[in-house]
Amino acid sequence: MRRSITVFPKLTDKEVSAIVETRKQYAKAFNMSVDCLVTNNSTSKRFLHKVQYERIKEECPTLPTGLIQCARDVAVEAVKAWNVKRTKLKRKHPKKAERMRRPSMKEKCTMRYDVRTVTLRGSQLTFSTCGRRVKAIISIPGFFTERYPDSEGWKLKGADIGIDRKGRVFVNLIYECPDYDTVENDGRIVGLDRGVYNIVTTSDGTHYGAKDARRVKRKYNHVRSELQEKGTRSARRRLKAISGCEKRFVHDQNHCISKKLANTDGDVSIYVLEDLSSMNMLRLRGKSNKTMRKWLSAWSYSDLEFKLIYKCRRNGIRVEFVDARYTSQKCSVCKTIDKASRKGNRYVCRHCGNSMHADVNAAINIRDNYITRIEQSGQAAVNQPYGWSATGEPATEPVGKTLTSKPSGLS
Ligand SMILES: [Zn+2]
Repeated sequence: MRRSITVFPKLTDKEVSAIVETRKQYAKAFNMSVDCLVTNNSTSKRFLHKVQYERIKEECPTLPTGLIQCARDVAVEAVKAWNVKRTKLKRKHPKKAERMRRPSMKEKCTMRYDVRTVTLRGSQLTFSTCGRRVKAIISIPGFFTERYPDSEGWKLKGADIGIDRKGRVFVNLIYECPDYDTVENDGRIVGLDRGVYNIVTTSDGTHYGAKDARRVKRKYNHVRSELQEKGTRSARRRLKAISGCEKRFVHDQNHCISKKLANTDGDVSIYVLEDLSSMNMLRLRGKSNKTMRKWLSAWSYSDLEFKLIYKCRRNGIRVEFVDARYTSQKCSVCKTIDKASRKGNRYVCRHCGNSMHADVNAAINIRDNYITRIEQSGQAAVNQPYGWSATGEPATEPVGKTLTSKPSGLS
């Protein structure tokens, strides 16, 4: 497991200009390495070193050897990732794959340092540059050293060093703990329902979601459709910029929501979510309705899951997945499945009179589905993911008493 923290060391002008020069040569070394790998169709570090090292040394005379090696390692990784991406694209759009630009680094790049080129002794940080090795006194916040102490095996793995937009030099220290194991909490199981109005609702009845998430999403949709209609060159450019803005907005929202969930005060041991693959399955079969499809395409829900899982792991909370079907149509009290019981965002059971928020009802069902699954299969199967059989039908039947109508979707 890895954690990172950013510090801003105070440096003299001379040191900053040394970093600027280092960055230039680092980018050059990276680009030369990529060119060599792509033209020779290789991803071997040893090959690259043999062929290109002397030439890089000539082109970047003052760049320390350690940093040439760092640039080389980053280049190999970048080319590997690029190859994977291109092979994927080739299957669908061969022409686009041909045009795909090879990875390149600009002069204003962020440099990756490894343990040979950056060291931290106490609060003294030193790292290589084109000129002298820079020495700076930094202070790492107490919460970080308390939470990730050396005694538990957290070691400095390297650092990313660059200059931000404000012109400050930042050092992003990367710590790694190879055998990190969190003790799992002993507490409640909480179900989470994801929806269009509230991004996440817990079975305790708490709603998580940005107040203006829908407004912002609607705004972007509107602007996008107008620009698409226009279709001029500048409109296309604007579209591209907007897609970046929207992406960052969604990422930020997902970070905020997953952080709130992971840092909950309650004694939560397991969060239960609907299974993503079954949702995709339903979408592919064209079973979901229009609103659901729109939301699925607009909200990066797999990104939310990813963030939730890693943030929860840190706090000893496990994330589990269950079958998503009928969770919004089933009554959480009497377990009767009836589509007609749901009216907008209320669930009013026609059989037992239970009335609650529809999303909370669904979240309770998700939690109960998980509990039932453990009880049915015994403790041994807790970690097994919910599986689909070869026919595409779920392996187990969902829990419920009666089925009065066929499900048409998830919401
Ligand atoms: Zn009921």
